[in-house]
Amino acid sequence: MPATKVVVNIPGEVAYNVRIGAGVLASLGQSMRNVPSLAGAEQVLVITDTNVGPLYLSRAKASLAEAGYHVSDICVPAGEEAKSIAVIGEVWEAMAALALERDCVVVALGGGCVGDLAGFAAATYMRGVQVVQVPTTLLSMVDSSVGGKTGVNLTAGKNLVGAFKQPAFVCADTDVLATLPSREWACGCGEVAKSALIDGDEFFFWLSDQAQAMAARQADVVAEAIARCVVFKADVVAQDKTESRGVRECLNYGHTLAHAIEKLSGYGTYSHGHAVADGMRFAALLGESLVGTPAELAEAQAQLLDALNLPALDWKATPENVLETMKRDKKARHGQVRFMLLEDVGAWKLVDVDDATILRHLQTYFA
Ligand code: NAD
Ligand code: MG
Repeated sequence: MPATKVVVNIPGEVAYNVRIGAGVLASLGQSMRNVPSLAGAEQVLVITDTNVGPLYLSRAKASLAEAGYHVSDICVPAGEEAKSIAVIGEVWEAMAALALERDCVVVALGGGCVGDLAGFAAATYMRGVQVVQVPTTLLSMVDSSVGGKTGVNLTAGKNLVGAFKQPAFVCADTDVLATLPSREWACGCGEVAKSALIDGDEFFFWLSDQAQAMAARQADVVAEAIARCVVFKADVVAQDKTESRGVRECLNYGHTLAHAIEKLSGYGTYSHGHAVADGMRFAALLGESLVGTPAELAEAQAQLLDALNLPALDWKATPENVLETMKRDKKARHGQVRFMLLEDVGAWKLVDVDDATILRHLQTYFA
């Protein structure tokens, strides 16, 4: 199967390519030499984590060295732990100790955590150097590697410090997904389903048809799903680069409740994508009464999520607690909880929902 190329063209930014396919990591270095802003660089720093490094760092470094880059690497803790003030501090110090100059390139080799950390390191070191995203989870291929959001967490909450930093190139090698644990696979599938529902009928019906193949990680279907998600996300980001025009918020479908689920059940109890899937089920419930979400849509969505191994969660909390948690979320404005609801597949609407309505629907959701 040949590699697919999606061009991300965001107003005011240099357009970049996302190369998707089996084995594309082997030509990472050569691909970078073909990007004007990376062609003349000498120093490359690969940032990876303790799970991904042992699996794919040597492959990445071999390709970069073959293309003539001088390569160093840093390995950070796997998972959310990497997105901390402590770790970003270590990365900055290491970059300085390596005497990296302004024309160096940071390569993020890993999932969304490495991508967010490395992107932020690149956005800030010497006021900004180039970054290449090499996403290795399904979630990072379909979501976090494109769009330019980078950052780290504070004790007070996730992603509270960061910067917008578009990559110069994205290399999504579908072969590396072979080693992804099934929980992480399902997590990414949650975001794929979300994208399809917001994007429209074409994507949604295609994914519904291909759900079994997607769950079974069938190569051609996976590559196509990633490409569709990237095209979709690139289009949304192009309309609203810095999330200031209310368009990018559509990507938040399912996330209002998901953030509360993750917080109240303890981070890591359920994967983010699985929490998003449940958030989408709840949004459909709310949508049926508030914006006329068709019952058939709620049903088709539920079937899709089931087929992607994202069954309805069996978690418990009091509706009052859930509401309070949603009100304290950083996406809430002045304590007003806002939901992304679907009037239909592809037709979304942001709705401020009052407390009583939320509580009533949470009772139904938990029943
Ligand atoms: P992750 O980076 O923690 O990766 C999940 C786990 O899989 C980790 O343990 C990792 O080491 C391991 N792993 C990664 N690739 C592997 C592979 N090929 N084989 C085996 N193991 C592998 O998690 P994630 O889900 O990729 O990303 C989550 C992060 O992304 C969150 O911090 C979230 O805030 C962020 N995010 C950012 C954006 C954005 O726009 N920047 C969008 C969505 C999510
Ligand atoms: Mg998400």
